Amino acid sequence: MPHSDDPVDQLRAVFATGRTRPLGWRREQLTRLRALFAENRRELADALHADLRKPPAEAYAAEVDLPLREIDHTLDHLEEWLAPQQLGPAALAGLPEGSTAGTRYEPLGTVLVIAPWNYPVQLALLPVAGALAAGNTVLLKPSELAPASSALLARLVPRYLDGAAAVVEGGVPETTELLARRFDHIFYTGNGAVGRIVLRAAAEHLTPVTLELGGKSPVFVDRDADLTTVAERLVRTKFANAGQTCVAPDYVLTDPDTARGLAAALAGAVERRFGPDPQGSEAYGRIVNERHFDRVSALLTSGTTAVGGRTDRADRYIAPTVLAGVEPDEPVMQEEIFGPVLPLVEVADLDEAIAFINERDKPLALYAFTGSETTRRRLAAETSSGGLGFGMPMAHLRVPDLPFGGVGESGMGSYHGPWSLAAFSHRRARLDVPLH
Ligand code: NAD
Repeated sequence: MPHSDDPVDQLRAVFATGRTRPLGWRREQLTRLRALFAENRRELADALHADLRKPPAEAYAAEVDLPLREIDHTLDHLEEWLAPQQLGPAALAGLPEGSTAGTRYEPLGTVLVIAPWNYPVQLALLPVAGALAAGNTVLLKPSELAPASSALLARLVPRYLDGAAAVVEGGVPETTELLARRFDHIFYTGNGAVGRIVLRAAAEHLTPVTLELGGKSPVFVDRDADLTTVAERLVRTKFANAGQTCVAPDYVLTDPDTARGLAAALAGAVERRFGPDPQGSEAYGRIVNERHFDRVSALLTSGTTAVGGRTDRADRYIAPTVLAGVEPDEPVMQEEIFGPVLPLVEVADLDEAIAFINERDKPLALYAFTGSETTRRRLAAETSSGGLGFGMPMAHLRVPDLPFGGVGESGMGSYHGPWSLAAFSHRRARLDVPLH
């Protein structure tokens, strides 16, 4: 193995030995990654608290439990997912007798994972798990905006995954330098502006790319929906991580009557979850930094404040807020909110809601609360989005056999479960024709 201190060279050298290919090596790495989560729960929770004041229960559910379930599911099924697919004889008509054909996954090589700050552990280590399951070596670049989590990952990853994975910390200059190198796949999670930078850099080396981006994920609330249940589920998802979740409900589309009832139900649900003063609640997080605090605060001028609205810059606190009667041309409807502000936008009916969704970028997720099969069928058939969730926002990403990813402005490619294996592998075609 050539001697070099360069982490990319080192990871390439490990891949070149061929030892990452066998199922046993892959399972071993996943088992070690599992141990990283299981043995460092306290450290992970502390780092997430330092970066985002992430409530412990939330930190556990999203950043430890979800990845552990994914890893266990992969350990249970990897052998089956890796099984070569053989074509039947009918597909080989015209070829000599005894010919066989099929496909199998092969690893790509050394891949780069660039992670964001909002779920800085899950969104760093889940792609790493996928890359390792596919038999690659992987370089991870965590977000500099979550410095405690980044430092912890830089310490733990080499300890548990020596040779298989490495971490380079840093911000724009370090990432720019990495992007100039050749990788065999780049997996980026973050915003579309940087997504474009990544894609341009990847073009230089013809490197395949997965872009996990964001956007405004709408929620349609039908007249027949039980508003207490809707409000509970919206509050639980929209205000988790103080609204800084890529698949969080961004805004609600509903008719004027339902909007009135929903605003009242949301007020009750916010109080039940966070008490009369959410700032004092251990269950409520903070905005990541002052830049984002200022950006989200400026959106509070839209519509009329139905719930919350209070801010405290010194504490980077923005109350769980619901804005009623928001018009489409107001500031809060011009960009992904990525904060604890939920606008209610009034539409006359489902037709108008569908038109509203289709006039905008394809969202990462589309949600609806409705008892009507016709409404569900129409939303599925007449709109497009990365994922589609009826009845419970954000739950689809907990089903590991569902692909998680965007479409159009919300991204390209997907991962989770078998889809991670597909993302980080090449499906190689093979045809065997007998010589006689
Ligand atoms: P971010 O600023 O942390 O950026 C992500 C990464 O890009 C970081 O590692 C950062 O160092 C790097 N980066 C930033 N600027 C760069 C540049 N000029 N050149 C090269 N690299 C650069 O994260 P963010 O973009 O603020 O995250 C929020 C966005 O991410 C939202 O739009 C959200 O919806 C989206 N998101 C998507 C998902 C998903 O799974 N689809 C998950 C989380 C967040």
